[in-house]
Amino acid sequence: MAPEETVQKRTEQDSAIEKQSAKKRALITGISGQDGAYLAKNLLARGYEVHGTSRDSETTSFWRLEHLGVRGNVVIHSMSATELHSVLHVLRQVQPDEIYNLAGQSSVSLSFEQPLETMTSNIIGTLNLLEAIRFLGVGVRLYNAGSSESFGDVGGVPATIGKPFNPRSPYAVAKATAFWEVANYREAYGLYACSGVLFNHESPLRSPRFVTRKIVSAACRIAAGSGETLHLGNMDVQRDWGWAEEYVEAMWRMLQQPEPRDYVIATGVQSSLRDFVHEAFACVGLDWRAHVHADPSLLRPSDIASSVGDPAVAERELGWKATMHMPDVVKEMIRHEQAGLSGE
Ligand code: NDP
Repeated sequence: MAPEETVQKRTEQDSAIEKQSAKKRALITGISGQDGAYLAKNLLARGYEVHGTSRDSETTSFWRLEHLGVRGNVVIHSMSATELHSVLHVLRQVQPDEIYNLAGQSSVSLSFEQPLETMTSNIIGTLNLLEAIRFLGVGVRLYNAGSSESFGDVGGVPATIGKPFNPRSPYAVAKATAFWEVANYREAYGLYACSGVLFNHESPLRSPRFVTRKIVSAACRIAAGSGETLHLGNMDVQRDWGWAEEYVEAMWRMLQQPEPRDYVIATGVQSSLRDFVHEAFACVGLDWRAHVHADPSLLRPSDIASSVGDPAVAERELGWKATMHMPDVVKEMIRHEQAGLSGE
């Protein structure tokens, strides 16, 4: 090989290595969930090296990542967020530039049945990540999945960061606590850490245990002739429903800000669960009143009548705005369900 060819080859190799090392590395805890899968896809498209954690990577189903065609492009590690050693081990191994903390028991209704698991996974899980970052002294940026449930009932007034929390479920208590953990570590130790207080966001990848997916699946089965009746709890509750794929974009944008701060991510519009049901059944050509039964046994011990967020700051500072509102979300979920494109 002529010397100039060798030089040329080295230059190519060097730039390939540089390109590789310039690649940002992200770690997503709870990558097997709805948001984890969409976020993995989003970050891969941006050229990130994506790592994820699951409590048991050998037995967990990563059907959402497979569904999005990205399972083979992410590295998955087993990690127990409630064990500091396990968290330290994974952080040392991966050395991420950005961490997205999405793991934890995420169902409000299940949290009434499993309050301890809900508190431990969300509160201790988040605390361990913060402690591990502090202990390792690494300049990693942390996004924490906060929840609109922390605000409680907002009485129709769109919530902003700074509105007092009034949690009304074990899940909301856990998320409110994790929010303050993050704020405290940011202030006390100068960590780059922030919480996105996200309002409900849905997709065909939503777990069937959530009411929106239950409604969509039942409407499609009934339209296909199943003859069943759908039983629901309080249909008067108002929620701010957006589209999950758009919400993970906001997570990434938060970590690109020069200074860390918490943001509300929402559409700014609330609708009742009854409106959601009406929309879903209308999409399949049915009148919901003939197929849905209000069941008092499904009422929660305490619930939120009204939940809506103010996305103005996110729009101004992150350049983020929801384009999909409740009727669009329902239509897309129904379309996927009917085409057999929803998971589980
Ligand atoms: P999912 O429930 O789909 O995913 C959460 C992941 O966390 C699971 O895949 C699971 O991963 C892990 N997990 C579940 N239970 C536990 C547990 N007890 N202990 C430890 N890990 C657990 O949630 P989403 O993707 O919808 O949400 C992501 C995050 O955002 C969650 O923290 C959620 O609370 C929060 N959030 C979600 C909103 C929404 O509307 N979707 C709204 C606001 C906040 P594995 O089994 O592989 O360990």
